[in-house]
Amino acid sequence: MLTQPTQLIIIGGGPAGYTAAIYAARAGLNPVVYTGPQPGGQLTITGDVENYPGYRNGVLGPSMMEDFKAQAERFGTIIKEGTIVKVDFSVYPRLLILDNGQQVTAQAIIIAAGASAKWLGLPSEKRLYGRGVSACAVCDGFFFKNETVVVVGGGDTAAEESLYLSKLCKKVHLLVRKGQMRASNIMQNRVSSKENIQIWFHTEVKDILGQETVEGVQVIHVKSNQLDVIDATGIFVAIGHQPNSAPFLPYIAVDDHGYIQVTPGRTHTNISGVFAAGDIQDIRYRQAVTAAGTGCMAALDAERFLQDQSVDSIFKNL
Ligand code: NDP
Repeated sequence: MLTQPTQLIIIGGGPAGYTAAIYAARAGLNPVVYTGPQPGGQLTITGDVENYPGYRNGVLGPSMMEDFKAQAERFGTIIKEGTIVKVDFSVYPRLLILDNGQQVTAQAIIIAAGASAKWLGLPSEKRLYGRGVSACAVCDGFFFKNETVVVVGGGDTAAEESLYLSKLCKKVHLLVRKGQMRASNIMQNRVSSKENIQIWFHTEVKDILGQETVEGVQVIHVKSNQLDVIDATGIFVAIGHQPNSAPFLPYIAVDDHGYIQVTPGRTHTNISGVFAAGDIQDIRYRQAVTAAGTGCMAALDAERFLQDQSVDSIFKNL
């Protein structure tokens, strides 16, 4: 059943979505947030967050997201569980279809559905997540100061994570599954010239060792089939991210990697009245604080849109 159009729907309940909700609710836009399959976003599966300003003693990721949510609710945001699985942006008000089949419409939409780290798919990786297994060196590298860690991947992210960790850790083992890295030449040169980064080509992770925390990484050298154990207390999986943009295709313009394209320095997408914030439009920074920043921008852009646009002029833009 189709309900009355909502003024503003925010898709995603991570730092970007909740920040957009706080701003929009305070501006009287009566936002509704659909939290998606992982309410709270990627931070709900992390441990301590020490780099989000305002928490001088650090904060647990899930607890921080509870604070974001409560702050959004305080100003009247309606928060609903549910995932948007399909959209029709050829109509106005814009149409969204939920995983339970329900259809909702909105005059303006902020897409803040995030991105998901790609994982190796090992049971030990899941079990030890947040206890030595991470996908974010900037978030968790500090916990491995002067220790030995492993980074998996051969792209620019793996190179960047290795370089970041090499400044904190005693030793970084970079595991590349092919005979060469995919990263840009400049990043490869930087990684190769770091004395405490050891690159292992043709090497894959077989298992992550340890019961409570990571105690080592079992690897296989694929050319010889030889098994080895690297003594390490941390493993950073850097094999790419997947922006959660699939439900918005084919209407929304995305780049070659599936990240939503926005007007530089703004949050406007190619569809009038649809804005994007957070990791779904950010291949580069992917931090909670940058997501929150773009969430704020999207709410201000949506507010301006709702103020400026008469329904007639929107129809002309369809
Ligand atoms: P990429 O897709 O470029 O690279 C992923 C890497 O992970 C590849 O080397 C791939 O290996 C490897 N990999 C994939 N699956 C596995 C697996 N199961 N086991 C082991 N290794 C695996 O992802 P990135 O996140 O590195 O980069 C994405 C985009 O973002 C790129 O365009 C990159 O240039 C850009 N970027 C730019 C930055 C910058 O400009 N500062 C920083 C970070 C990213 P294989 O090569 O064998 O397929």
